[in-house]
Amino acid sequence: MKKYTIVVKLGTSSLVDEVTREPRLANMSLIVETLVKLRRSGHKIVIVSSGAIAIGMKRVGLSVKPSKLSEVQALASIGQGQLIGLFDDLFRQLNQIIAQILITRNDIMDFTQYKNATNTIHELLEMGVIPIVNENDTLSVAEIKFGDNDTLSAITAGMVHADYLFLMTDVECLYTDNPRSNPDAKPILVVDDIDELSVKTDTESAPIGGGSKVGTGGMTTKLIAAELATNAGVTTIITLSSKPQCILEIVANIQHQDGKNLSIAQQHETILDDVNKNKLPLHTRFLGLPRDSQIKSDKKFWLLHGLKTKGSLIIDQGCYDALTRKNRAGLLPAGIVEVEGTFHESECVELKVIPKRDSPITEAVAKGHCRVNYSSTEISLIKGLKSNEIENKLGFADSEYIAHRDNIAFPPKVTI
Ligand code: GLU
Repeated sequence: MKKYTIVVKLGTSSLVDEVTREPRLANMSLIVETLVKLRRSGHKIVIVSSGAIAIGMKRVGLSVKPSKLSEVQALASIGQGQLIGLFDDLFRQLNQIIAQILITRNDIMDFTQYKNATNTIHELLEMGVIPIVNENDTLSVAEIKFGDNDTLSAITAGMVHADYLFLMTDVECLYTDNPRSNPDAKPILVVDDIDELSVKTDTESAPIGGGSKVGTGGMTTKLIAAELATNAGVTTIITLSSKPQCILEIVANIQHQDGKNLSIAQQHETILDDVNKNKLPLHTRFLGLPRDSQIKSDKKFWLLHGLKTKGSLIIDQGCYDALTRKNRAGLLPAGIVEVEGTFHESECVELKVIPKRDSPITEAVAKGHCRVNYSSTEISLIKGLKSNEIENKLGFADSEYIAHRDNIAFPPKVTI
């Protein structure tokens, strides 16, 4: 049987009781037993766990999350210790070693640092350890935050080249509408193109599959995470967090299907059949993009998802075509139509495309990211010029490119 690298994302509501705010010990024990079983059968497991802030709140007797950032950061540092201690107590009963990894975007701002973080996780996995990742809420502020742990789990899954990402949540699967309010809502079992999904997820307080009082995400952040992870080839699964044993049955089912080369329709049929006849737990599988279209390079994944963009460069369709053709070009000053925002050299910016050079900027569509060789002020001065005019204009010319082609990335669907 094939062995996989599996990332399991646990939200606060899986770990903390919504009413009493105490740790859900029974559920945590089930999670621990399940993941140890998977580990023992040869799979590599990474957990991305929330819960620090909620546990910190309980510890100091707060029932409402404070709005002051430093107070939330303090609570996270109180709660994170208790959270990891709890996991360690439970995993230790089964002789399973765990490791704590706390991360902010700042920690992976540099590609070498990103690779170092990846290497550490790989080393831990080789040692048979289960790393437990969380955002370093104690130190992170808005500018360097991943934001929510659905996103962090998808980035982690891409970083470690996981095969599967399980987003554990409070509904079994994705539905066409909110099953709590619409009895006609239908489960969606297999998704091969998230863009073509037609689901309603935008109810304000309770999106389908989320929006509990203690969690931060909802189905919307799960869909974003699923898109991010599937672009990197990671099949993403949404299933019920209150029955973590589901993971075992789903993995067994995947192992059974692996290598059969079933079409999407056949996969859907088989899963539906297994759900109906063999009591396979309901879940949604977002299929990872096939190898030839997924993001294969770590550098590209890092450019697209590791870095936060600081501004944008507007280019026209012709320039975009040159950046995305088979023999890709670098981004020259001549290709830049407009600069938005303030950024420094080496920072990451969005590449937005307008149909023609004189099209209104409001028509610009975000397509990809690049790391620039010049600041926003410098690019404003040299935009539209030939590269050999840079020195005359700026008094120096560090590079003929605004961004070298190795520092430009587009997600798979917009890459030609
Ligand atoms: N990092 C936060 C915590 O540990 C949770 C963020 C999230 O759930 O998205 O409390």
